[in-house]
Amino acid sequence: MCGDVRYKTLAEPVRVTVCHCRFCQRITGSSYLVEPIFRKQDVVFEGAAAETYEHRSDSSGMRVTLNFCRRCGTTLCLDLERFPEIVGLCGGTFDDPDWFERNPAKYRHIFIRSAQSDVMLPAGVDLYEEHATRLDGTPNLPIILAHALSATMALRQPR
Ligand SMILES: [Zn+2]
Ligand SMILES: [Zn+2]
Repeated sequence: MCGDVRYKTLAEPVRVTVCHCRFCQRITGSSYLVEPIFRKQDVVFEGAAAETYEHRSDSSGMRVTLNFCRRCGTTLCLDLERFPEIVGLCGGTFDDPDWFERNPAKYRHIFIRSAQSDVMLPAGVDLYEEHATRLDGTPNLPIILAHALSATMALRQPR
């Protein structure tokens, strides 16, 4: 927000995750985090160094590090012990928060089980109740809606 910390990306995101977990609700102070995921080598930070805060994930017990601006407090990115080769940027901090594609092949919503009741979930996109993969690497099965539905209605869908 204040411009002290700047970054640029050198490639398209590997994928775009919208996360409805309680942690992401807390760090955004809102309903969910739009998190374009990049390979670490594709993100270059400039200007002031970000401040960090270490959190232990409730589900994996692993470290999640929040990077934020020490002057204005804006959260910029997350790096995760579980996925050391990537960084999740906070989508709203880009100069143009809409530049990256939400292409269904590389787009997912996760932790919809804790999505706030009035949030509308899109049709034709992989939705996961929790993570897309379990801690042992087994993939979880997505829900794919034929029509956009509120989170409350989506979780009532037979599967
Ligand atoms: Zn989350
Ligand atoms: Zn700032």
